[in-house]
Amino acid sequence: MFEHESYDGHEQVVHVQDAASGLKAIIALHSTALGPAGGGCRLWHYEDPGKALTDALRLSRGMSYKNALAGLQMGGGKAVILGPVPDDRRQAVFEAFGDAVNRLGGRYVTAEDVGVGVSDMKMVGARTKFVSGLSEEGGVGGDPSPYTARGVRLAMEAVALHVLGARSLEGVRVAVQGLGGVGANLCRELSERGAKLIVADINQQRVERICDEFRAERAEAETILFSEVDILAPCALGGVMTEASVPKVRARAVVGGANNQLLNAAAGQMLFDRQITYAPDYLVNAGGIIMVAAEYFGTHSQAGVLADVERIFDRTCQVLLSSRKTGAPPHLIADHMAAKVIETARQAEPGRPAVSRAENFV
Ligand code: NAD
Repeated sequence: MFEHESYDGHEQVVHVQDAASGLKAIIALHSTALGPAGGGCRLWHYEDPGKALTDALRLSRGMSYKNALAGLQMGGGKAVILGPVPDDRRQAVFEAFGDAVNRLGGRYVTAEDVGVGVSDMKMVGARTKFVSGLSEEGGVGGDPSPYTARGVRLAMEAVALHVLGARSLEGVRVAVQGLGGVGANLCRELSERGAKLIVADINQQRVERICDEFRAERAEAETILFSEVDILAPCALGGVMTEASVPKVRARAVVGGANNQLLNAAAGQMLFDRQITYAPDYLVNAGGIIMVAAEYFGTHSQAGVLADVERIFDRTCQVLLSSRKTGAPPHLIADHMAAKVIETARQAEPGRPAVSRAENFV
């Protein structure tokens, strides 16, 4: 694993197998320099199980950077459960996953991600207290995706200001790929601000619902990335910006909720060279983890969380201005800023493992 191309000095990677429930999972802790490694749990059917490890390694590094830039007292981690999980095993699988999280003694705090809902996290919560995204009773909590979507919309406003000359999204054409928790909530945010929506999902029921509700135009899942729009919003899975796809992108900017949108650094550089503004995913999609952290630490009212999410607008402006000033692509600027925060925390507490290769990027 130490030779794996996505290994980035991760502190700990745990492979979990529970014969009784059938659980197979990987929990990757990238860094705990800033606090417990926070990040969601994804349930996905990986045709090649090796891809589950790649996903866990890449997603957990992204969480370190996301949490650092969002100013949270959390490091970065992520869990992936290898699907499919039959309905009659779901409870046993999530309880066994809760036991695995508990064995980490608080070094990892879990929550929802793709394929995992609040009811699943409640099953996890029956076995461990190191879980968030549980309940909205008496304060913030529950499904993080509305907060994530709000942050993405704020980042889009920052990008609109820099690229289109005005913060308003009125009449701005946005293509949204993926209409799950984040994508559907983003469509609501954008529709309320007068944006024109083009949408796609592999789940046609979701497409119908969003088209009916927000008068969105339908596109094919295979081609939505190449729609002629102002802003492209990838809100499905990662790795969509590749050396093959970027030359066909016709949007002026890419601002979406999906994690790890850039397959690799070359794709980020290609976007930059084509003068397509890319707002780094972990910067713009931090709204959910801001809420999750507030619920976990019990630190914030809903107003406090929304105020923190609101800061995503300023941070996106900061990264875009810095990119303009230095001539470096925004994703490298954000990597550098995040790595600096983590490294400063690590140095304040000697003995912590070195955090990241990103220090060498800029
Ligand atoms: P979700 O499972 O609710 O929705 C994902 C949607 O994408 C589904 O409707 C699915 O059918 C669709 N999809 C999958 N492959 C597709 C394809 N090739 N083309 C079109 N649609 C496709 O997940 P979510 O919670 O909305 O998360 C979406 C993305 O945002 C993920 O990358 C996730 O890691 C990231 N993210 C989510 C949150 C959150 O708060 N939920 C926070 C930060 C980042």
